[in-house]
Amino acid sequence: MAETAYIPEAFPHHWLPNEAEFKTWDQVEPWYRSLLERPIGSTEELERWLVDLGELNGAVSQEGVRRYVAMTCQTDDPDREAAHLAFVRDIEPRLKPIQNDLRNKYLDSPHRSGLDKSRYLVFDRALDNRRSLYREANIPRETALAELDQRYQKIIGAMTVTFRGEERTPAQMAPFLEEPDRQLREEAWKSVAARRLVDRDALDDLFDRMIALRGEIAREAGFPSFTDYAYRVRERFDYGVAEATAFGDAIEKVVVPLARKLQEERRQALGIDRLRPWDLSVDPLGRPPLRPFAEVNKLAEGSEAIFRDVDPELGAQFAYLREHGLLDLANRKGKAPGGYQTTLEDDRLPFIFMNAVGVDGDVRTLLHEGGHAFHALASRAEPLAAYRESPIEFCEVASMSMELLGARNLALFYGEADADRSYRQLLEGIVTILPWIATVDAFQHWIYAHPDQTRDDRRAAWRDLLDRFGGAVDWTGFEDARASGWHRQLHIFLYPFYYIEYGIAQLGALQIWRRSLLDREGAVLDYRKALALGGARPLPDLFAAAGARFEFSESSLGPLMDAIGHELEHLAP
Ligand SMILES: [Zn+2]
Repeated sequence: MAETAYIPEAFPHHWLPNEAEFKTWDQVEPWYRSLLERPIGSTEELERWLVDLGELNGAVSQEGVRRYVAMTCQTDDPDREAAHLAFVRDIEPRLKPIQNDLRNKYLDSPHRSGLDKSRYLVFDRALDNRRSLYREANIPRETALAELDQRYQKIIGAMTVTFRGEERTPAQMAPFLEEPDRQLREEAWKSVAARRLVDRDALDDLFDRMIALRGEIAREAGFPSFTDYAYRVRERFDYGVAEATAFGDAIEKVVVPLARKLQEERRQALGIDRLRPWDLSVDPLGRPPLRPFAEVNKLAEGSEAIFRDVDPELGAQFAYLREHGLLDLANRKGKAPGGYQTTLEDDRLPFIFMNAVGVDGDVRTLLHEGGHAFHALASRAEPLAAYRESPIEFCEVASMSMELLGARNLALFYGEADADRSYRQLLEGIVTILPWIATVDAFQHWIYAHPDQTRDDRRAAWRDLLDRFGGAVDWTGFEDARASGWHRQLHIFLYPFYYIEYGIAQLGALQIWRRSLLDREGAVLDYRKALALGGARPLPDLFAAAGARFEFSESSLGPLMDAIGHELEHLAP
C-alpha cells in the first residue's frame, strides 16, 4: 500500500509573542486584562478580538493540559502533581470571573449587529444562555453540591469486600463474573451486592439533599423545575424532554426485544434454566478471554493498519501521533487509571492516554479515542476556537463510529473466529447499553418531576423502569439490590441528566456504520466532512453532514436494530 504522509499545518500566533509564557497567574493575567481593555470600534475588530481571545485561551489551556498529561502519566512524581495542582488552584479559579467579564464585553458590544448571524448562531446562543443562567446566589449552593459529590465518591471509593482471603474493590471483583465456574460467579456477585446495600441509606440520604439543592438552584434561576434548568445548563437547544421521552419509547419498542432475544440465546448457550444477575458477563461458550496482543507496540501497529483501511489519510494521521509522542498507551505502575483523549489547544494537536494490558477492550478503546483525535485534527483550521470543539452528542459520534468502522478489520488482531467474537461483543454491548441509557434517563425525569417523593416511591419508580426496559434476568432473593441498583450509576448523582448523550451519539454512529456496510467510502467521506465542521453548526446539521438523521424515533432506530440483528446472524458465535 502506498504510504500517505501526514504533515499537519502549523498555526503560529498572530497576536501573542512566541516567547510568551503562561506558567503563573502573573504571566497570564496581563494578557486577559489587555483584551478586556482593548477598545473595539468595528465588527472586524470584534472578530479579531474573538480570534485573539481564542489564541490566549488555547495557550493557557495547553499549559494546563500539559501538566495534567504529565501528572496522569506518572502520578507518583510529586513535582508533576504539584505543577498540576498549582494550575488548578492558582490559575483556573481566577480565570472564571475574567471569562465572565469577557463574555459580557462580547455580548454587549454594539458591533455584534454586523456579524454574520448564521455563522455566529451556535456561538451566540451558548453565550447568551450562559449569561442568562448565571446567578451569584447559586455559587454557595453549587459549592455545597460539589461537597456532596465528593462524599458520593468517597462512599463508593471506600467499598471493598473480602473475597477468597483478599480485600478487593468492586472493579477488582469484575473479572470473577467472567469465570466459567458458576458457583464462583454467584459468590462473587453476592458479596458485592451485599456490600453495596450496607451504604444504601447513606446514599439515599445524600441523594435527597442533592435533589433539594438542585431544586433551589433551578428556582433561583427562574425555572419551576430542575429538569428545564438542567436541559438549559447542558445546552440542549436542539432537543427537549419530548424528544428524550420519544427516544425512550422507541428503545422500548425496537431495542428491548432484541436485547431480550440475545439474553435468551445466552441462557440457552449456558444451558441453564434461568439467567441470574451473575450470568451476564461470562463467555456463553466457556472460552477464555480474548487476547489481541502481548506488546503495546502491536496494539498501535494493528490500530494504525485498521485506520489506514478505513481511510489512508486517517491512518497517516495516526502514524503522525505515534511518531510525535502524542500517544501513551501502555499500563504501568504509577500511571492514572482509565483512558482519555485531550487536545493541546495551542498546537491544535490531540493526545491519547490509556492503560492497555492486552485485553479486547483495549483495541476498542484505542479505536474510540482515535476517533476523538481525528475529530480534533479535522477541525483544527477553524479560526474561532469555540468551534474547534463539538457538543458531546457529536463528539461521541466521532469516536463510536470509529469503533464500528474498524470492527470488520479485527482480523488484524485475531484469527477469524476471535475477530467475529470481538465484533459480536461490540454489537451486543450496544444493544444492551441502549435500554440501560433509557432506564437511567427516564428515572431522572421521574425524579425531578416528583420533588416530594419518598425513598419507597423512588425504589418503586426504578423497579417499574427495570420491568419496562430490563431483560429477562431472574432477581429472586435479591429484590433489595435490584431496587437500589441505580446507586452505582455515578451520573445520576454527579451529572444529572447527563447520559442520554451516549444514546444520541450511538444513534448517529450506527447510521454511519449501517451505511458503511454497503458504501464504506461514502460513509467515511461524510463522516470526515462532519468532523471538519467541529462545533460550528447545531446538532441536526452535524448529523446531516455525516449522512445521519437527528431523529429519536422508532423509524430511525428500527432499521439500525435490524442491521445489527442481521450482522449478528452472520458472525461466528
Ligand atoms: Zn468518548
